[in-house]
Amino acid sequence: MPQTVLVINSGSSSLKYQLIDPDSGHSLAQGLVERIGEDIGHIHHRYSVHDVDINEPLPDHATAMKLVLDLFEEVGPPLAEANIVAVGHRIVQGGRYFNGPALVDDRVERLIDELSSLAPLHNPSALVGIKVAQDLLPEIPQVAVFDTAFFQDLPAESALYALDRDVAERYSIRRYGAHGTSHRYVSHRVSEILGGRDLKQIVLHLGNGASASAIIGDRAVDTSMGMTPLEGLVMGTRTGDIDPAVVLYLQRVAGMSVDEVDELLNRRSGMKGLTGDNDMRQVRDIARSGDHSARKRAREALDVYVNRIVKYIGAYTAEMGGLDVITFTAGIGENDIDLRREVCARLEPLGILIDEEANNQRPRHAVTISRKGSVARVMVVPTNEELAIATQAMTVV
Ligand code: ADP
Repeated sequence: MPQTVLVINSGSSSLKYQLIDPDSGHSLAQGLVERIGEDIGHIHHRYSVHDVDINEPLPDHATAMKLVLDLFEEVGPPLAEANIVAVGHRIVQGGRYFNGPALVDDRVERLIDELSSLAPLHNPSALVGIKVAQDLLPEIPQVAVFDTAFFQDLPAESALYALDRDVAERYSIRRYGAHGTSHRYVSHRVSEILGGRDLKQIVLHLGNGASASAIIGDRAVDTSMGMTPLEGLVMGTRTGDIDPAVVLYLQRVAGMSVDEVDELLNRRSGMKGLTGDNDMRQVRDIARSGDHSARKRAREALDVYVNRIVKYIGAYTAEMGGLDVITFTAGIGENDIDLRREVCARLEPLGILIDEEANNQRPRHAVTISRKGSVARVMVVPTNEELAIATQAMTVV
């Protein structure tokens, strides 16, 4: 059995896990636990040809994790034989403390806890995941891998908000970014493939959450998510960039509470707010075959989505003083052929030329979709956050 890493991604009511061989990238087993804390929880575990579903109450993460470990024993692969050398935990917020993965000890746990105010939905559940894994797998080192780490060294010009310094410092307000594990992984793959040094890259991670980053060489110089994942591109349910005065207006004029505005901007906006659906496939369906007004709304929403991406590409190209490669990744970036075509069509006047045939696929590996003569290359590189977490975890054990 090769060395493996158990990757754990704990959400507030969910838990994703994958047993992965970081050298080959092969996933040996994986699963998803949902509805922790609700009346009936659900676990889906997949190993080789076995697919197992369990529906039963999962009062807390500890119970869920215990059942998952039981599934490894009953369905496979048995953990004692899996040669696990680390448990890698995805942590959303590493604040100003972490610019890379960290072996979990008391100090690291304390800092993750301290950073909960910046990621109230994510850091606390990740800590629970760490504690449960420590209890159940006490012999195996736990490693924290931070979503923000890749952006921790952003230059001041993109990390700082033009906010009163005292307030910003007192409350740790700055651009932290997110999806850093994916941006790092994808940009490294591009550098590996193209072999260039100091490549100027834009990575577009377009999933349910969406973010863009500007990278020179192996260093991120800007990213669209801000102090929280709300800023930047239009997302499934988040607004992305919006005039912050809208927040004040909604409170003063519409009488909304802080929590109501939070819920509105994070969960009821973006593509869902504009079309009624946050899933890009559905939005495309509505744009093709909905009734007249639904079709018009969906088309408008897609235009807003594309326009925001194009704006960031322009801004980042100017910021970096040039552009070598744009890379699409994540659910929408990898699969939405029309979206890639629409974005690139807007860039044609700048000399970016797409190869329609090369674009007409949902690749499982890295491909170039621009054609000869394009001033910058355009690629699609499937992201693999679990593998990236496993690989990073290996670097500290
Ligand atoms: P996350 O990990 O942020 O939950 P993913 O990276 O899995 O999200 O991306 C989810 C998004 O990808 C959804 O909006 C989904 O509609 C979109 N997607 C998946 N396949 C396609 C496709 N064939 N065409 C367009 N969008 C797609």
